[in-house]
Amino acid sequence: MRNYVDLHTHSNVSDGQLRPAEVVRLAERKRLAAVALTDHDSADGLAEAEAAARALPIRFVRGVEISASFSGGTMHIVGLGIDPANRRLRSAMGRLVRARQRRNPKVVAKLRAMGVDVTLEQWRAWAGDCRMVGRLHMAKLLCAKGYARDVGDAFRRYIGAGAPAFVDKELLSPREAIEAIHAAGGLAVLAHPPELNYGSNARLERIVRSLVRDGLDGIEAIHSEHSPAQTRHYLALAGRLGLLVSGGSDFHGPDQLDNRVGLPRVPLAAVEELLARIHC
Ligand SMILES: [Zn+2]
Ligand SMILES: [Zn+2]
Repeated sequence: MRNYVDLHTHSNVSDGQLRPAEVVRLAERKRLAAVALTDHDSADGLAEAEAAARALPIRFVRGVEISASFSGGTMHIVGLGIDPANRRLRSAMGRLVRARQRRNPKVVAKLRAMGVDVTLEQWRAWAGDCRMVGRLHMAKLLCAKGYARDVGDAFRRYIGAGAPAFVDKELLSPREAIEAIHAAGGLAVLAHPPELNYGSNARLERIVRSLVRDGLDGIEAIHSEHSPAQTRHYLALAGRLGLLVSGGSDFHGPDQLDNRVGLPRVPLAAVEELLARIHC
């Protein structure tokens, strides 16, 4: 019996290390019942992943992770069950990709002004086979050059929200992100709430209630970076606000030693209602 799922993974179409088909095959080897590929602002890996899943005893869910503007932290909204050909979603993703291309030179300029010896070319080289040159790659570059202890440290001290070399690229409001996902037939799920840096639980509830007014369908209650207490809190919040529950690893590749496909365990039973409403 396959009793677990992973509804949040990345491939080298965004900032992951493995090809889309490899992510699916890995999930199958972990004997998961379902896997979603949720690359940042891109649906380009879904056809390859879906084709790989067709030959395997695993359900594939077409996904995407969209960045939305949020003061003080990162707001990511995962879309599950999307039609990748939908024009409205494609145009929203295109805007985000172009914004990232404009952002990166500004980040390098800020870092260099701080005395950090990095270049745009080094950043691109660090992205390797990835089609997206994202902040995770810069974080790894900063670690390799000895400027940061680990990826988290790099985000905190240099490039994360509130840090000196942070440049906001987000163009879409949460409502626009949710509406683009809905236009493509998907369900909109708030990803990893701790990255909102919300402070108190009361503030988180205000943020989530406002997202619900914007059409939010679910909350990622289970995630590799949530503590057991956080997971319990998000599950309770979902119950109180009538939100669907989702969960996943946020896997980016074998380099991230503490992040594996299928971990933490996301019970199929916890996401059954969400999966029942997805038709792909
Ligand atoms: Zn995310
Ligand atoms: Zn992610």
